[in-house]
Amino acid sequence: MIASNQTDFMTYVRAGHFVLMDGAMGTELEGRGVPLEGTGWSAVALRDCGEAIREVHEDYIEAGAKLHIVNSFALARHVLEPLGLGHEFEHFNREVVNLFNAAVTRKGVNREELWAAGSLSTFAANADRSLLPSGDALVSNYRDQAQILFDAGVDLFALEMLFDVEVSLAMLTAVEGFRLPVILGFTCDWGENDSVTTAKGMGGPVTPLEEVLSKVVNAAESKDVIFSIMHTEADVTDAALEMLYRYWDGPVAIYPNSGQFIDLRMQFDSVCSVEEFQQSVNRWIDAGVQIIGGCCGIGPSHIQGINYKPHAKL
Ligand SMILES: [Zn+2]
Repeated sequence: MIASNQTDFMTYVRAGHFVLMDGAMGTELEGRGVPLEGTGWSAVALRDCGEAIREVHEDYIEAGAKLHIVNSFALARHVLEPLGLGHEFEHFNREVVNLFNAAVTRKGVNREELWAAGSLSTFAANADRSLLPSGDALVSNYRDQAQILFDAGVDLFALEMLFDVEVSLAMLTAVEGFRLPVILGFTCDWGENDSVTTAKGMGGPVTPLEEVLSKVVNAAESKDVIFSIMHTEADVTDAALEMLYRYWDGPVAIYPNSGQFIDLRMQFDSVCSVEEFQQSVNRWIDAGVQIIGGCCGIGPSHIQGINYKPHAKL
């Protein structure tokens, strides 16, 4: 496997440095005209349009991002099998790391100056979380995916769109044997009376964020973990971050989304401007967030626009 910064990531972050992350992959592909099948999100794009994925990585490298999430978000076995792509499970997960490495080579950047995170997500086929396996099957699906990403050379794992205690802990269990840093990314929505809950999408249960955090922080405390609010609108992110800091005093990553989805399609005219994004970023940096990038709707121009040095708390 590639000798990289993996063991240094936590040291770097714990020393107080700021890490610029990349932005969206799925909506960026959509914006470039790559068809995203609703049932499998970016999995089908990988089969048909690998070059476009590599180009998006190149643009984020160009934009200055140091931490990049490879496009394995929709590549769990339980996402691929209902699409008839189960036989591609290994190949696809290896390929997304290769596409990132190819982008690094084409940009002439030293791979060891960047970090690649393997994404494991709660995305389910047909965006229907009732199709997520449970118990041991869930853990082993994630562990197998993590193993392929690990062997292909990722430096850390990003657990994405976490929404409850059970699945979060299953995913944490799946990756703990690899001894890589782990970003635990929670997706949030407004609940009643300005409370924050986990995301309402995909038919899964909605849990008060506080309840999930109190239990997951406990389970994760002694590990090399970064807590994150991701794929969440900026205003909800502000409230979720406040809640997170009540439970967690370790490193935090924020990568919000922006813009309306209609039938899993991003409405790009509703995405925030680069300037608006920077204003949100300033608030998060002032609050002590060290790792910032973007999710759906946030593209290379937003990432390139992030001006963090004057605000960095080193
Ligand atoms: Zn997103």
